[in-house]
Amino acid sequence: MNKQKSIDQIIAPPPSHWVGNAFRVHNFLPGNLDLKRMSPFFLMDYGAKINFSPTDTPRGVGVHPHRGFETVTISYYGKVAHHDSAGNAGIIGEGDVQWMTAASGVLHKEYHEAEWSKQGGLAQMVQLWVNLPKAYKMSAPKYQAIKREDFGILSLKDNMGVIEVIAGNYKGVNGAAQTFTPIEMYNARLKKDAEVSFSFPENFNTCALIIEGNVTLNDKKVPTDYLVLFKNEGTDIKLRATEDAIVLLLSGEPINEPIMSYGPFVMNTKQEILQAYEDLNSGKFGYLADE
Ligand code: MN
Repeated sequence: MNKQKSIDQIIAPPPSHWVGNAFRVHNFLPGNLDLKRMSPFFLMDYGAKINFSPTDTPRGVGVHPHRGFETVTISYYGKVAHHDSAGNAGIIGEGDVQWMTAASGVLHKEYHEAEWSKQGGLAQMVQLWVNLPKAYKMSAPKYQAIKREDFGILSLKDNMGVIEVIAGNYKGVNGAAQTFTPIEMYNARLKKDAEVSFSFPENFNTCALIIEGNVTLNDKKVPTDYLVLFKNEGTDIKLRATEDAIVLLLSGEPINEPIMSYGPFVMNTKQEILQAYEDLNSGKFGYLADE
């Protein structure tokens, strides 16, 4: 075994806020951290479990722009519908992932799916903003709808669970998503007492979000809804489920470029942020109806 990756911080879910009326989120990244601490992962909004009452008017976030990065939405419970000005639309259900490359710019809207809204129920989601290097910030928008059955799956022996590979490669199993920079993204769905190990390069920024259950990471106890941030020291992580658990693991090669972020834009310079607003106001992000 190589050197264990040491834990930097175990972070409790910060106070929540609402994104539109559909997503009650805990902002872990950037949170109180340096903007580049988890690069290429710029933002992590975690929607811990919440129950929604039935409604005929789906809750959501209206039309808004993005430029310079990708939004990755992972649903654990609940269904989200998406439309964007590049003409892409889709519904992600439980366990699915939506990987939207905003790049040069899209307008989009994110809503609870209509039929799901009528029933109401439990929702739990993660939204990540994955930064793009300068070379791709102004490339064409793109959309990957990744169903749970499309993930690479590594089944653990003795029926102890599965590792779903969303992006990257785990022990020879390839992920489903195409990425612009090296990224590892897995869901570890573990039965009680399952033990698994991971190895990520020392320079990759790495964290683990506990979606369900209580676990130990490198023998440290971590409860549900907490984020574990690893240091850029060592490579190996040992994860043990002390009860049935789901853990989202993220690791990526840092993008060593300046970051200038404002509102829905993540660029390299202030000039590019101003340009984004100019382009937005002059209609260069296209058109998307609000309903
Ligand atoms: Mn958005």
